[in-house]
Amino acid sequence: MRLILLGPPGAGKGTQAQRLVQKHDLIQLSTGEMLRAAVAAQTPIGLQAKDVMASGALVPDEIVIGIISDRLDQPDMKNGFILDGFPRTVPQAAALDELLKKKHIKLDAVIELRVNESALLDRVENRVAEMRARGEEVRIDDTPEVLSKRLANYRTQTEPLIHYYSERRKLLTVDGMMTIEHVTREINRILSAIGAVEPKATAKAAAPAKQAKAGASKTAKPAGKKAKTAKKAVKTAPKAAKVAKKAKKATKKAAKKTTRQTARKAGKKAAKKTTRKAVKKVTKKRAKR
Ligand code: AMP
Repeated sequence: MRLILLGPPGAGKGTQAQRLVQKHDLIQLSTGEMLRAAVAAQTPIGLQAKDVMASGALVPDEIVIGIISDRLDQPDMKNGFILDGFPRTVPQAAALDELLKKKHIKLDAVIELRVNESALLDRVENRVAEMRARGEEVRIDDTPEVLSKRLANYRTQTEPLIHYYSERRKLLTVDGMMTIEHVTREINRILSAIGAVEPKATAKAAAPAKQAKAGASKTAKPAGKKAKTAKKAVKTAPKAAKVAKKAKKATKKAAKKTTRQTARKAGKKAAKKTTRKAVKKVTKKRAKR
């Protein structure tokens, strides 16, 4: 399986990528992680990227495309991968298309994690607190000031990729505001719906939390079955509409008939009454004579 995770900083790409890696035995390719490693190791790329990353700007396209191209050539890519944080610009996406074409690799899907921007600062602050609690080094670009720059870059440079991949029919959007567990379940559900993973793996993916398990029975319905039911529904819908139309017509007709009959009956009754009255009057007059 080959996937791209798309979303602003703090959307949960890293968290979901790790979960997918565990479940489906994939390799996570995070350009951010690779660049941070290069910075730490003070490689030529690291030295070039260091200040750019600290400011919240994007590292030049050629650098990240080069990193990804080299990495895709390595043998551990065979089982599949998740790109997290790449591509981030349209030229990067176009370069990736070229690379994949050359390497005869097919991209299964691009999963967009859609989140409210207002929640992102809180999320990043939580991430910082968690990292501190674990005694890990905190990212220098995880500050409110740099985050707002990263968000602005996302809007102008990365968001156009939503249109890019939707045009290519690769885009699948997931509500990233749900709990981590729910987002994982939803991603696995749509992956099995498009046939990227076996339906069984979806059920397995939903297993860890008890709460998730309870809900899973509803959602873990095999995608094939679900698709069939949906297809049937689509097929039967016009039929049902026709039948309903016919029934409506028949009811209207019947109602008209009944009204007509009732009127006729009422008329007859009234006529009878009038006739009876008239007869009585005539009889009375004759009796007087
Ligand atoms: P991330 O860990 O994905 O938030 O990335 C951290 C930083 O690394 C970004 O703010 C950029 O400076 C840089 N970076 C990561 N991926 C890319 C990319 N695909 N293109 C350009 N810069 C990137």
